[in-house]
Amino acid sequence: MVHGYKGVKFQNWAKTYGCSPEMYYQPTSVEEIREVLALARQQNKRVKVVGGGHSPSDIACTDGFMIHMGKMNRILQVDKEKNQVTVEAGILLADLYPQLDKHGLAMSNMGAVSEVTIAGVIGSGTHNTGINHGILSTQVVSLTLMTADGAVVACSKSNNEELFQAAQVHLGCLGVVLSLTLQCVPQFHLQETTFPSTLKEVLDNLDSHLKKSEYFRFHWFPHSENVRVIYQDHTNKPASSSASWFWDYAIGFYLLEFLLWISTFLPCLVGWINRCFFRLLFSVKRESSNLSHKIFSYECLFQQHVQDWAIPREKTKEVLLELKTMLEAHPKMVAHYPVEVRFTKGDDILLSPCFQRDSCYINIIMYRPYGKDVPRLDYWLAYEAIMKKFGGRPHWAKAHSCTRKDFEHMYPAFPKFCAIREKLDPTGMFLNAYLEKVFY
Ligand SMILES: Cc1cc2nc3c(=O)[nH]c(=O)nc-3n(C[C@H](O)[C@H](O)[C@H](O)COP(=O)(O)OP(=O)(O)OC[C@H]3O[C@@H](n4cnc5c(N)ncnc54)[C@H](O)[C@@H]3O)c2cc1C
Repeated sequence: MVHGYKGVKFQNWAKTYGCSPEMYYQPTSVEEIREVLALARQQNKRVKVVGGGHSPSDIACTDGFMIHMGKMNRILQVDKEKNQVTVEAGILLADLYPQLDKHGLAMSNMGAVSEVTIAGVIGSGTHNTGINHGILSTQVVSLTLMTADGAVVACSKSNNEELFQAAQVHLGCLGVVLSLTLQCVPQFHLQETTFPSTLKEVLDNLDSHLKKSEYFRFHWFPHSENVRVIYQDHTNKPASSSASWFWDYAIGFYLLEFLLWISTFLPCLVGWINRCFFRLLFSVKRESSNLSHKIFSYECLFQQHVQDWAIPREKTKEVLLELKTMLEAHPKMVAHYPVEVRFTKGDDILLSPCFQRDSCYINIIMYRPYGKDVPRLDYWLAYEAIMKKFGGRPHWAKAHSCTRKDFEHMYPAFPKFCAIREKLDPTGMFLNAYLEKVFY
């Protein structure tokens, strides 16, 4: 019989949200998950599955039953002919990558962080960059799900297609994802080239940058014109990187946290910090190459609050210029660097922020130096207002203040997703406070 724990406290990676689940389970098999759901039905409890707990919002929080999927993390099958891998839903990407390496395979694209689970990243619509690459959910070929009544349902493009289109970005509200099959590609190396530029240059030549590099993104340093351009492209070069690059980062970021902490007393320092660190760390061209997952993954340093909305790709210039103008008009509003700008191909996943349109994601952050919150409400609200004005859709895992009304307006397929959810989970077993705002 599955054993549950009382008194476990859950906190997300950034320690910005937490909860005290009534019971905490770490099942080791499908049968044990079924037992937890049966118990929840009997006792009329809610259930939330947690993966890596990295979402910078309360999407994974509950005061009911929490299921941690860490013990369901095996590779189930490798199909070398199709380059497909079937895994249990709780596998961390950090554990998946070396396994893929062994088989000469790789994911074609991935997010910045690898201490996250495959079911978690697809559940929240995690993305990286590359205008010819979709969000990570587009790499899923099929998946299985245990619904609230304990039944196991399989879906793919050719089997239960509507459910598949919903489950590819499932928000954790359709059931417990048990396993997934991923379309991989042969292992590859990437060369990363980073170089300094200006916001004007990048926005004026956006199409050209997008054509020049398969995985193009850039960092804008608010309160300045400075931009760091990042190209990542396939290469045959062996792994290489500059040692001083590492030390620059290590020293730079210890200093950054300290200076950002000082700036909590002297906010006017933030613009200076952004300019200074650009000059210190990012004002020269750098190159490195390595296996794709070693280039795609990068340190996100210390705790932070984030918002990350997807806007139609053709609005990129207008939106960034409006954000810059807004900051200039409000000199007391501070914005930490970087504003990260990434591009993603459109898809047909019902709740994907890239549903039916190529998109540009604009990620803003406010660090929490030594865990201290920096006032951000005005910046947050002003950013959201701009994103809404230009037809933006928020990242599901990150902060936003949207409710059902907003989502009905943003997502043409929202009613379809709701109908599927209500059919699979009529009593709302998989809801929590975050999801109530989305669906009620
Ligand atoms: C440092 C850092 C860097 C990041 N970088 C990026 C980035 O580059 N791009 C990007 O788009 N996002 C990024 N994110 C956001 C991150 O990718 C998402 O929050 C992702 O969902 C985290 O995965 P997780 O396993 O921690 O999921 P969790 O936070 O644990 O859960 C996310 C959702 O999935 C559900 N869930 C998890 N497992 C299951 C399951 N088996 N069955 C049903 N539901 C399940 C949960 O209930 C919840 O709704 C970053 C976050 C951090 C903290």
